[in-house]
Amino acid sequence: MNAPAAAPARGCADAPVLKQRGQHEVFCGLTGIVWLHRKMQDAFFLVVGSRTCAHLLQSAAGVMIFAEPRFGTAVMEEKDLAGLADANEELDREVARLLARRPDIRQLFLVGSCPSEVIKLDLSRAAERLSRQHAPHVRVLNYSGSGIETTFTQGEDACLAAMVPILPETDAKELMVVGALPDVVEDQLVGMLREMGVPVTLLPARRRDETPGVGPDTRVLLAQPFLGDTAGALERRGATRLPAPFPFGEEGTTAWLRAAAAEFGVPEEIFDRVTAAPRARARKAVARVAESLSGKSLFLFPDSQLEIPLARFLARECGMVPVEIGTPFLHRGIMEPELRLIPEGPTISEGQDVDLQLDRCREARPDITVCGLGLANPLEAEGMTTKWAIELVFTPVHGYEQAADLAGLFARPLARKAKLAGLEAAR
Ligand code: SF4
Repeated sequence: MNAPAAAPARGCADAPVLKQRGQHEVFCGLTGIVWLHRKMQDAFFLVVGSRTCAHLLQSAAGVMIFAEPRFGTAVMEEKDLAGLADANEELDREVARLLARRPDIRQLFLVGSCPSEVIKLDLSRAAERLSRQHAPHVRVLNYSGSGIETTFTQGEDACLAAMVPILPETDAKELMVVGALPDVVEDQLVGMLREMGVPVTLLPARRRDETPGVGPDTRVLLAQPFLGDTAGALERRGATRLPAPFPFGEEGTTAWLRAAAAEFGVPEEIFDRVTAAPRARARKAVARVAESLSGKSLFLFPDSQLEIPLARFLARECGMVPVEIGTPFLHRGIMEPELRLIPEGPTISEGQDVDLQLDRCREARPDITVCGLGLANPLEAEGMTTKWAIELVFTPVHGYEQAADLAGLFARPLARKAKLAGLEAAR
C-alpha cells in the first residue's frame, strides 16, 4: 500500500477550515534553539530571559549541556523600568564577556522571551549597538522566541527571517533551500540537486562565511513548512518561492526535487537517473512499515506546523485515515500543494481551543493521536495511543532514506499498544 494513488482533483485544497482561538498548549519558540545551534556552527544563541527560559532550554537540549554549549541565558529578572539602563549595560557586559571567552563565535542571536522585564528592553537596538561594538568579527541579530508570540517551530522562522535583511545582494540564478535540516539529510537532498546540476545555497548556512546571497533570480524552496515569515521576507528581497509539497516520504521528496528540477531545466532522464534508486528504496522500505498503519485512523493536534505534510504522507503512502488535521497556523499559499494531495474527508483545523479539540478527539477515538507532551499523558491514561509531536522535529525524517523511519515513528506506538493488549489478554 505505498505507491501513492493519483492526486485527487483538488483534495482538501478547498475544504472549509475550522478556525479556533482559545487556550493552546505548545512549547514556545525558544525550543528551536536546540536544533538551530547544531546547524549554525559558529553561532551563539543568548536568550534574554528568566530562569524558566534557562530551565526549558537545558531540559529540551538534554545532553548538550555536557559539551561547551552554543546557547545560554542572560537572566533579566526583578528589573523595573528604572533599571532599564542597567539592564542594557548588564547585557553589553555579558556579551563582551562571552565573546572574549569564545572567539569562535561569529554570529550572535539575542533571543527575546516573555518576562515583562525583557519585553521592555529594545533588543533590536541592543543588537545594532552590539553589532557596531563587535564588528566585523561578530554580527549580532535579534528575534523573539517568546511563548506569547511564537509556537515552537516559529522560533526558527523568526530566526531565519531576522537573517534575511543582512543577506548580500546577488544576480545569480540559484536555488536557496530554506530551513534547518539535520546535516545527514541536507547532504542527501542537496547532493541530489547538485548532481542534477542545480546551483544550491542554504539558509541557514552552516557557517557565517557561507551566508547565501539573495536577488531577483533567487528561487526559494522551503524544506520546512513553518517558514512563512522567512519566505515573505525573501520575496520582499526579490526572490521567488517555488510551490511544492514538502520532502516527506517518497512522493513528497520526489515532488519537492521535481519543483527545483523543472525550474532549472533539468532533463527528465537526468532527474530519473539521480532519483530512481533512492525512490525505489524508499518505496520498498515504507511499504514494509505501512502494513501495520494501513486503515488506521489519525488525529493531529496543532503543534509543529508539520501536521499537513505528515497527514499527506501517512494517508497517501501508508494508507492511514486522517480524521482531523490541526495546524497552529495555516499558510494557504505554502500549503496548497499539500492540501491538494490529501483525499477529502478530514476536518482541517487552524489554531486551537484545547478543550473543544479534546472533545472531538475523544469522540473520534482515533487509532493514533499526534499531540504535544502535555496532552499525551492524559490521553494515554484514557486508553488512547499517542505520538509526541516534538519527536518529529528532533528526528531526521525528511528525504528518501528517512521515509521508512518517519512511518516507523507512527508504527511503533501502535505496536507497543498491541503488545500491551496481548499481555493484558494473556493474564
Ligand atoms: S514561554 Fe516565555 S518564559 Fe516560558 S520558557 Fe518560553 S520564552 Fe521563557
